[in-house]
Amino acid sequence: MLILGKPGGGKGTISGKILKDFPRFHHVSTGDLLRQHVNEGTQLGKEAKSFMESGKLVPDSLMINLLMDDAKPYIEEGRSLLLDGFPRTLQQAQALEEVAHIDTVVNLDIPTNTIVERIADRWIHPASGRIYSYSYKPPKAVGKDDVTGEPLVQRDDDKPESVRTRLAAYDKVTAPLVDWYRRKGLVQTFRGTESDVIYPQVKAYLEEKNF
Ligand code: ATP
Repeated sequence: MLILGKPGGGKGTISGKILKDFPRFHHVSTGDLLRQHVNEGTQLGKEAKSFMESGKLVPDSLMINLLMDDAKPYIEEGRSLLLDGFPRTLQQAQALEEVAHIDTVVNLDIPTNTIVERIADRWIHPASGRIYSYSYKPPKAVGKDDVTGEPLVQRDDDKPESVRTRLAAYDKVTAPLVDWYRRKGLVQTFRGTESDVIYPQVKAYLEEKNF
C-alpha cells in the first residue's frame, strides 16, 4: 500500500494510525530513513542532507537503493508494506513495480493553506520521530518531548522557503504520479483538513478491502 500526498499533509500521522489498526503492515517512511542517515552521519546522509534542507528531492538512484535495502527483506518474506514518501517520481514508481505488487494507493488531498499553517506549527523529537503541533497535538510541557523530556526542534526543511520548494516539487513531479496510479485503478482519495476526521474514512476503506 502506498500513501501519497503533499508534504506536510499528514502522511506520517495517518500511517501511524493505520499501523495501530492494521499490524500486518511494515512501515517504511523514506523521510524518516533519510533523517536517520543524516543524524548518524552516514555517507548517504551526507549526500542527502543539502537536498533535504533546501526542500529538494533526493536523487532517484540514492532513493531507490535506500528503499530496496530497507524493504527488500520484507518483500521477500511476503510481508505487506506501507510505503510513506516513496515513490515520489515516475522513475521510483517504475523501480518499485519491478519488485512489489501494489494493491492500493491512499491519496491525501489537503488544501495548501492548511499545510502551510500546519508546517509552521510542527515540532518534532528527533530521536524518536514523535511529532507535535501546538494547535492540535501539544506536548504536555512546552518545548519538551512527552516521553523523554528532551527538547523539541523544528525540521530544517520546515522553514517557509523550503516549504514552498517542497510544495512546488510535489506539484511538478509527484502529483502526476497520482494520475499514473489512477489510470491503473488503484487510487482512493481522501479530502479534508484534519487527520482525525480523515482517518476513520481511511480505516473504513481498508476494512472494506479486507486489509
Ligand atoms: P510529511 O510532512 O507528510 O511527513 P514530507 O514530504 O514533508 O512528509 P518526508 O516524506 O519526511 O517529508 O521527506 C522529507 C524530505 O526527504 C523530502 O523533502 C525530500 O528531500 C526527501 N525525500 C523523502 N522521500 C523521498 C523520495 N522518495 N524521493 C526523493 N526525496 C525524498
